[in-house]
Amino acid sequence: MTQSTGEWPSTVLAAETERFQERDVREMNVTAGTALADAIRTTLGPRGMDKMLVGDDGKVVVTNDGASILDRMDIEHPAAREIVQVAQSQHDRIGDGTTTAVIVAGELLTEAARLTEQGLHPTTIDAGYTRAVDLALSALDECTVPVDPADTELLEAIARTAITGKWSDREATAIVELVVEAAQAVERNGTVERRRITRTTIPGGSPTDSELVAGLAIDVDASSTTLASLDVDLPRRIEDAGVALIDDQLTVEKADAITRVSVENPTQLGQFADYEADVYEGQASGIADVGADIVFCQKSIDDDVRARLARHGVIAVERTRQDEMHKLARATGAGLVKRVDELTSDHVGRAGVVERRTLADTELVVVGECPDTEQRSLILRGGTAHVIDETKRLIENCLDDVTLAIERGAVVPGGGATEVAVAARLREAADGIAGREQLAVTAFADALESIPRTLAESAGLDPIDALVALRNRHADDEWRTGLDVDGGELADVVERGVVEPATIKRHAITSAAEATTVLVGIDDMLVATGEGDGEHDHGHDHDHGRGGVEATGGYPWAVGH
Ligand code: ADP
Ligand code: MG
Repeated sequence: MTQSTGEWPSTVLAAETERFQERDVREMNVTAGTALADAIRTTLGPRGMDKMLVGDDGKVVVTNDGASILDRMDIEHPAAREIVQVAQSQHDRIGDGTTTAVIVAGELLTEAARLTEQGLHPTTIDAGYTRAVDLALSALDECTVPVDPADTELLEAIARTAITGKWSDREATAIVELVVEAAQAVERNGTVERRRITRTTIPGGSPTDSELVAGLAIDVDASSTTLASLDVDLPRRIEDAGVALIDDQLTVEKADAITRVSVENPTQLGQFADYEADVYEGQASGIADVGADIVFCQKSIDDDVRARLARHGVIAVERTRQDEMHKLARATGAGLVKRVDELTSDHVGRAGVVERRTLADTELVVVGECPDTEQRSLILRGGTAHVIDETKRLIENCLDDVTLAIERGAVVPGGGATEVAVAARLREAADGIAGREQLAVTAFADALESIPRTLAESAGLDPIDALVALRNRHADDEWRTGLDVDGGELADVVERGVVEPATIKRHAITSAAEATTVLVGIDDMLVATGEGDGEHDHGHDHDHGRGGVEATGGYPWAVGH
C-alpha cells in the first residue's frame, strides 16, 4: 500500500470541515453543500492516495475510500449530511464511484447557486436537472462497451480501474488476477454467484501472498486443540476423501454416564473409565467405518475421541462454523447429521482432495475438487489486521465492479471520457430546449465535466487545456477518448484498460442530482411562503425571517432561512 508523504490530506480535510461546520446554518443549503464538496474534492480526488484521518474516538484511520472518510466525519450540517448520504448510498448499493458521486453533487450545487444568482427559480433548476438526468442516462447507454464474461483481459481492466491509486502495482496485479479468477469461476449464465466465494483471512505475509483455492478453505486454528498436537501422524493430503459432517459434540455425556455407572469405589471408577473408552471408541470407529477420512463437527470433540479418530486415520475438525458446515455439505454432497450415531455411509460426501496446510501460525484444511466444482475460497493475507481489513475491502470493491460489469453486460470508458461524452450530448440537447430550463441542462453538463478536470489535476495536467482537448476529440466522435492518468495523456481509454461498469455512472448521476434537488427544493418551499417575492423567478432573500419555518415540514435545518 502506498504511503502518503508531506502534509496529510486529512489535515486539510479536517481544517476545511471545521471551517465548514462554523458557517452560519442560515446560509443557503446550496452554498454550504458546495463548501463541503469543495473540501472533499480538494482532499480526496478520484485517484486518492492513502489518507489519514483522526476519528472522534481518537483512532487514526488510514483509508483512501471516500465513503469511509465521510463516515467518520462528525457532520452536523444538513446539506453536508445530504452529500454524505449520496456517498453512502453509492457505496452501499454500488460499491464504487463514491468520490465521483460526491464531486458531481457538489458541482451541481455550485451550479444551482450560480443559476439562482442569475435569477433562475429553483423549480426551473429542478426541472432542468431532472431533464438532464434523463438525457444523461440515455446518452450513457450509447457509450457502452459490451462485456463478455470470458474476456479475462477486459475483466482485469475493470478490476484494475476500480483500485487504481489504491495499491502498489505489484499488489494490484496480484489482487486483480485473484478477483477475476474468482468471479469467472462462479459465473453461470451471466450471474456471478458471490455466495460461492468464501473469504478466510490469515494474518502474516503480504497481500500479494493472498490466494484463491478451488474448494473450501477452513481455518482450523479456531478450534481449541490443533491437529498438530496429536501423537499420531495424520496425512497432510488425502485424495478422494470421504467427508462427514456432524452437528453434535463428540464426547461422553457425563449425566448419561453417571446414570449407568455409579462410582462408589475404585473398581467402579475403573468401570466408568471403561465405559467412557467404549463410547469414545464407538464414536471414532463409527465415523471411520462409514468411510470418512475427515470429520467436521459443529461442536467440540473430546481429545480422546480425536486421538482415536487419528489412529483410524480420520482427521477431526471441531467447532466448524454453521455456515461453513452448510457450504461443505453443498460442495461435497455430504448430509449433515444431528447425532453421531445417525451417521451412515449415505451421509458421507466426497472431495477429490483434502489438504492440511500451515500458513504463518494458522492451520487450514482445504477441501477441494468437490462434486460441486464452483466453490472458491479467497485466502487473504497481510502483515497487520489493518492491512488485511483494507485488502478485504478493496477486494470487495473489485468484485463489486467485476460483478456489475458481467451482470449488466456493459462498461463505459473511464478517465473522464464518459462524462465528456455525456456532457456533449446534454449541450446538444440543451440547444433545442426553449426557456430558462436550457441553462440548467447546460449547467448539468458543466458539473459532469468536473470529473475530467479533477482527473487532469491529479495527473499533473492543466485542467482547462485537458478539458478543451477532450471536447475537441469528442467533437470528432472519439467517444472513447479520456485521460490516461498513468500515461499523463489523452488516449483511447478502452484500449488502455480504463473502463468501469456503466451502473456506477448511472447511480452516481442519479443520486447526485436527487440530493441537489432536495436541497434546492427546500429553498424553493421557503421562498414560496416567504413574505413578498414568491411570484418572482428569483431565489433568495436572506431576510425572509420566520416566514418559511412552517413550510419546512421536517427540515429543521432551514429554520431562520
Ligand atoms: P473512488 O473509488 O476513489 O471513490 P471513483 O470510483 O468515483 O473514486 O472515481 C475514480 C475515477 O478514476 C473514475 O473516473 C475512473 O475512470 C478514474 N480512473 C481510474 N483509473 C484511471 C486511470 N488509470 N486513468 C485515468 N482515470 C482513471
Ligand atoms: Mg472507484
